[in-house]
Amino acid sequence: MAEQFRNYIGGEWVAGSSVNVNRNPSDTRDVVGEYAQADAAQAQAAIAAAKAAFPQWSTGSIQERANILDRVGAEIIARKDELGALLSREEGKTLPEGIGEAMRAGQIFRFFAGEVVRMAGEKLASVRPGVDVEVTREPLGVIGLITPWNFPIAIPSWKIAPALAYGNTVVIKPADLAPGCAWAIAEILSRAGLPPGVFNLAMGRGSVVGEALVASPDVTALSFTGSVPTGRSIAAKAIARMAKVQLEMGGKNPLVVLDDADLPTAVNVAVQGSYFSTGQRCTASSRIIVTPGIHDQFVAAVAGKLSTLRVDNAMLAGTDIGPVVDESQLGIDQKYIEVGKAEGAQLVAGGERVERATPGYYLSPALFIGATSSMRIAREEIFGPVACVIEAKDYDEALAMANDTEFGLSAGIVTTSLKYASHFKRHAQAGMVMVNVPTAGVDYHVPFGGRKGSSYGSREQGRYAAEFFTTVKTAYTAP
Ligand code: NAD
Repeated sequence: MAEQFRNYIGGEWVAGSSVNVNRNPSDTRDVVGEYAQADAAQAQAAIAAAKAAFPQWSTGSIQERANILDRVGAEIIARKDELGALLSREEGKTLPEGIGEAMRAGQIFRFFAGEVVRMAGEKLASVRPGVDVEVTREPLGVIGLITPWNFPIAIPSWKIAPALAYGNTVVIKPADLAPGCAWAIAEILSRAGLPPGVFNLAMGRGSVVGEALVASPDVTALSFTGSVPTGRSIAAKAIARMAKVQLEMGGKNPLVVLDDADLPTAVNVAVQGSYFSTGQRCTASSRIIVTPGIHDQFVAAVAGKLSTLRVDNAMLAGTDIGPVVDESQLGIDQKYIEVGKAEGAQLVAGGERVERATPGYYLSPALFIGATSSMRIAREEIFGPVACVIEAKDYDEALAMANDTEFGLSAGIVTTSLKYASHFKRHAQAGMVMVNVPTAGVDYHVPFGGRKGSSYGSREQGRYAAEFFTTVKTAYTAP
């Protein structure tokens, strides 16, 4: 019988009203576990527990808060191999990628442990003589966190850690496809010394638990990462009740490769950014915009490199690209490959479902050339190991194409020219710009987020996380 995992509400482990079977996409016979599904009443109980815990937690010892977050970070780092293996097993990214993500989750908790004692305010003179002005940050209250499956340990961590660090209480609803990592973080938090109710895990359906968080007047703020349609619907409902909301959504990230690029760098940056983690990254470079002088050599080298990559069980040593996360996402990827062909782009590598020793959702990395900016494969987020090359006549046209998208998360350029690198950094319409490094792959101590349709609200991560997770108070004092 599969292992059972319960929700964590008000300091107690509670069974759900049903279970969600979490399967390994590298081997569909392997059940990772059965995860509790909260119903609406349990979601309300989690919100009530977080609300009740807020007054004490938000005004309690900051040293205690820092110690708790530090303990959590240290345990995650100490167990990174085991947690990385769980991640790899439930989500399908390779073992090194899973371990790297687990490590990052630990570093995030440690970063915010430090931030607890570094939160500063301002003291100013008033324009009225004899009066002092102080500007301080205060916690918001109960924060509802809704997370996707593709970074199942890092994204929950980069929302939970700052929420708690700045004195808020939390209810998190992780994605159904990969709840195991969020459960593991909850289990670590449950032993870290938090008062009951400060942190609550409510696994369950988006339409039940997610909607309950969005609708509840007791949830002061919502931090969401996921797809554009879900984000838009959450924003509309949250704003209607004047809740603070932060959304991180999709991307169609451009990578510009100029004639003067170092070819091996360009190939590495493109292959890593477009295909690693099975292309299932909001920051993946799915549009590669290439100038004519390097186009043919670049395409040949990328196609050559793709043919050497091993697509296989994520847990096996030597696997470069794991499976697609599930049958439905595989169907979406395959549909887009057909769309690309029908639109007139040429498929020059991959794009085929492949069989391996274990039954899973394996797709060879697909490269299209001859795409144009108006094609659907160049405009819509696919979220799989599928990228297209668009030829641009020069830098100016490449920049215009890079910006010709409803999204604006990450944008990259490969060039040896300081002039073009500097211009691109200033003019790319994206929250993150990468010069000679992949569009995907970011540090944990600096802001993360995008522009246009990719993000809404203030940035996540680093010190900038305080913008979302606190509210500002201005106090005037006369002696
Ligand atoms: P999704 O939108 O389907 O689900 C995200 C979360 O929202 C899940 O927990 C889901 O259960 C929940 N949800 C679904 N319906 C809901 C509702 N009506 N009310 C409240 N919650 C609801 O996204 P996904 O498929 O899990 O993740 C893939 C998407 O996430 C991609 O579009 C990707 O680009 C995006 N993503 C963005 C970032 C970023 O930071 N920009 C990072 C990772 C992933």
